[in-house]
Formats: sequence, structure tokens, C-alpha cells
Amino acid sequence: MTSPTPDPDDAPRTFLLRRGDSGPRVAALRDVLVRAGAADAAADGPAAEVFDEALERVVRAVQQERGLRADGVVGRHTSRALDGARWRLGDRVLRHVPGHLLHGEDVAELQGRLLALGLLDDRRDGRLGPRTEAGVRELQRSTGVAVDGVVGPRTLEALRGLDRSVVGGDPSALRDVERTAQARRRATGRVVVLDPAHGGPESGATGHGLREADVVLDLAQRVEGRLQAAGTTAVLTRGAAQNPTSEERAALAADVAADVVLVLHADALTPPGRDHDAPPPPSPASGVATFSWGTARSRSTEGARLAGLVQRELVVRTGLADCGSHTWDSDVLRLTAMPAVRVEVGYLTSPDDAALLADPAARDRVAEALVAAVHRFFLVADEDVPTGVLTVVPPPA
Ligand SMILES: [Zn+2]
Repeated sequence: MTSPTPDPDDAPRTFLLRRGDSGPRVAALRDVLVRAGAADAAADGPAAEVFDEALERVVRAVQQERGLRADGVVGRHTSRALDGARWRLGDRVLRHVPGHLLHGEDVAELQGRLLALGLLDDRRDGRLGPRTEAGVRELQRSTGVAVDGVVGPRTLEALRGLDRSVVGGDPSALRDVERTAQARRRATGRVVVLDPAHGGPESGATGHGLREADVVLDLAQRVEGRLQAAGTTAVLTRGAAQNPTSEERAALAADVAADVVLVLHADALTPPGRDHDAPPPPSPASGVATFSWGTARSRSTEGARLAGLVQRELVVRTGLADCGSHTWDSDVLRLTAMPAVRVEVGYLTSPDDAALLADPAARDRVAEALVAAVHRFFLVADEDVPTGVLTVVPPPA
């Protein structure tokens, strides 16, 4: 199954090209550079055969990227490095031969995948050495492929299978997808209570044609679908027609043994004397604020951690102004025993916030931020990810 494959090191292909040269060999060099990922090297017509200043810049960039002397001259080392560029992962069987390091773009691509999967700590140098081989063996062990350290058709198939759950080719993005999968595993089986405030005849805040009760119910439903798509049970405290009391909302959270409660409000800068259950309005009167339970003497540390995550994810994913994360002795927060966060997701009285909250795509981003924060909350400390990177599964259509 593993026929011997030619090693590019053995290929007697020596370019020696520099700025000022011209002819078909320059055109060939451009082709090789494009295949090596340097799209800027492409040129049409007679220009393709001229080694001009722009091409020299491309060569320097490629040399720098590959740890070669960036002199812009295509000599023996550069042409050897470029020769490896013609290999794409899957073009040949990759096998580590001690004392003779196979190299090429395909090896670099393999290393990128292994790095992304956490199976390789080494740098991506495009050379198939013992550490890369060890990573391949680890990949084979974890995907049920016969463990021989050789990247043949079965191993490539296993990698492609992983690709289906992984989007994009950037190693750090792949690592984030892996963390996302981890977060979903930890979120599976958890119960999240979503508490859209107000409801029924009580509209809550209003502004720019929006009613708080409607906005937060719609947001809760968007969060619900995404949580359920990721295997987390979501329970809403009300539908469109009801306005349960704070005690009833908290009792529901206790009944379903919620792991987490999200209380959803939108704010308004209310004229003095108007009775609305919003906290004293932060200034400026736009943006997102989160609250966890706390008094002057005591506070919920887990609630504060969740509030911080919700705050950061919302700010990064929506662009709403950051009004901070605070403690507050408000009803539902006080009446619930599990980590609970009250979110004031924008001001309906702010034209910018209202425009954002009227946009279904922005509501999806709000929902994704809330789901990402909840999923991060379920990760243990050393697994946590940077803000804005967890991928949130959209609900089934
Ligand atoms: Zn409210």
C-alpha cells in the first residue's frame, strides 16, 4: 500500500533566478510560488516572464516565511523549499524515514492539522521528523486507524472526517473549533432557565417602536434554539401572554434544577418619577450591562463570573457599549440559588441600540453571545477560551 515516492530533495531542479531575469523559467517560478500560496506572484501576458521588483518582494516574503535568507534570489535552498510546494496533502504517502526528512507543503499542511488538534507541539516546518510522526500515531490511535505513523489513504480519510466538523484552514481557528466541541460536551445535559422579563400586559421599557417584553422574549427564543441544538436543556419562564411574579420565575428555576439562570431585560433612560424596575441608568444611556447577585456584604462569585462572561461576549459580538458588570440585590437574582445573571441588553431609548435590537441578524448575535458565555461558564478554568471565538450552533431550520 505504500509504494516508494520520489523525494523532492532528490529532484535535480535548480532554479537560479533573480531580479532582471526573464523567460519561461520566470513564468514557471511564478506558477510554483502561486501553488506555494503566494497569490501575488501571479501575472498575465508578457509580464509573467519578467522577474520584476514585485516578484522579488514575493520571493523575499516566501523566504522569510520559511526561515530562509530573504535575499530575493531564488537559489538552491529556495528552489528546494519551493519544490516541496507542489505537494498537496494526499498527493503522496507520507512516511518518516529516519535520517532523511521528507519535506513539502503537504507535510506543513499535515503539521497544521496536527497542531490544531493538539497532537503536535512543534512548529510547522514542513519536515516530517519523529515528532510529526508521533503526532500521526496519536491521530491514528484516537480515530481508530491502524497505528503505523504513515499517512496513507486511511489516515487521510480520518483527517477528512475530522474536517467535516472543522471549518477553515487556520490552525488557531481549528483549535478554537476543538475548544468549541469541548464546551458543547460540557454543556450537554445542563439546564438553563431563560427569564424574559415583563410580559403579558406589562411591556417594560419602550422606545423607537420596540417593547422590552417582546424584544427579550424573542431573544430568549433565539437562545433557546441554540442551546438545544448544542444539547443543553433550555426552559423559558413565560410565553408572550404571561407575566409571572419574580417568586414564580425563581420557583421554576428551582423546580427544573437549573444550572444557570439568565434574566433578560432591555433598558430605557426613563424620565424621573416613572416607575420602571431598571437599576439607576448608567451613563451614557446606551450599551449593555450585566448584574449578578450581591450586597455590600456578600455576593455570588459564580454569578459574577457568569456575568463577566456574558458582558464580554455581548460587547465583543454586538459592538454595544460596555456599561460593565455589577452586583445588584434584585429580585430574581436574590430569589435564585444557582448562578444567575441579569442582562440589560441595550437601551430602547438609544437610537443606535434600538436600531441594533430591531435587526434580526443582531438579535442572533446577542443570542450567540449568551450561548457562548453559558458554554464558557461550564468549562473548567484551564479550558476557557478567549472572548468571541466559540462557535455557536444555529438551531435547526
Ligand atoms: Zn426591564
